[in-house]
Amino acid sequence: MTPSIIDTHTHPFDAAFDDDRTEVMARAAEAGIATMICPAIDSASHDSLFALCDSYPDMCRPAMGLHPTSVNDNPDWRNELDIVASYISNACNRRFYAIGEVGLDFYWSRNWQKEQTEAFEAQVCLSLEHNLPLIIHTRDAWPEMLDVLRTFKGRGVRGIMHAFSGTWDDYLAVKECGDFLFGIGGVLTYKKSTLPDILCRLPLDDIVLETDAPYLPPVPFRGKRNEPSYIVYTCRKAAEAKGVSETEMAATTTANACRMFGL
Ligand SMILES: [Zn+2]
Repeated sequence: MTPSIIDTHTHPFDAAFDDDRTEVMARAAEAGIATMICPAIDSASHDSLFALCDSYPDMCRPAMGLHPTSVNDNPDWRNELDIVASYISNACNRRFYAIGEVGLDFYWSRNWQKEQTEAFEAQVCLSLEHNLPLIIHTRDAWPEMLDVLRTFKGRGVRGIMHAFSGTWDDYLAVKECGDFLFGIGGVLTYKKSTLPDILCRLPLDDIVLETDAPYLPPVPFRGKRNEPSYIVYTCRKAAEAKGVSETEMAATTTANACRMFGL
């Protein structure tokens, strides 16, 4: 029997699934995915996120947040933050399971570093205010992201480091700031990935699995569209790297995710 798995970071509401969403969700259920955490990007995707969560209320649990790249070149980003805050304050009578995805991303440009940082800080405050975990996206911004987290150290800050690909020192630095788990995705299966070495050292209780579908598909689907059911390939590889059975990997990461998201 396939053990149940939680995809802690996935976007099945993305337009990439508009033509075959029903089949994609059926394959996810068949693969043993009991729950998916679906992080928001910005207001352009809220309607499709809510429609998905209404169609699959047991399976799809929404997170609400403003993605750092949606701050770039967006004169309306403060308004976007207000929308996030109003949803979290129950304006739509919905339960959100996390603040996400939020963070810093300087891959495309550093021109909006100040704005991204302000948006990130505001959303960390929101997570503390509402006692919700964060889903943190970090790309080409590890030192800056840690600087922000350190200012919240000792205040109960917690959440998931989405698509973790940092070093052992990064891991230690994050753990010092609060209660954090580390999202492991398809990158783990890539030939040149250094993730298997880091994963060896991460305690099993600090790991959760994710797809980030439609992005970052695991081998053998590299270059194609990712989907939640492919999480079993990441689970298999993670189990191999940790020297545990797939069943244990699925069960432990599921328990970790349940604890963090209050499922
Ligand atoms: Zn994402």
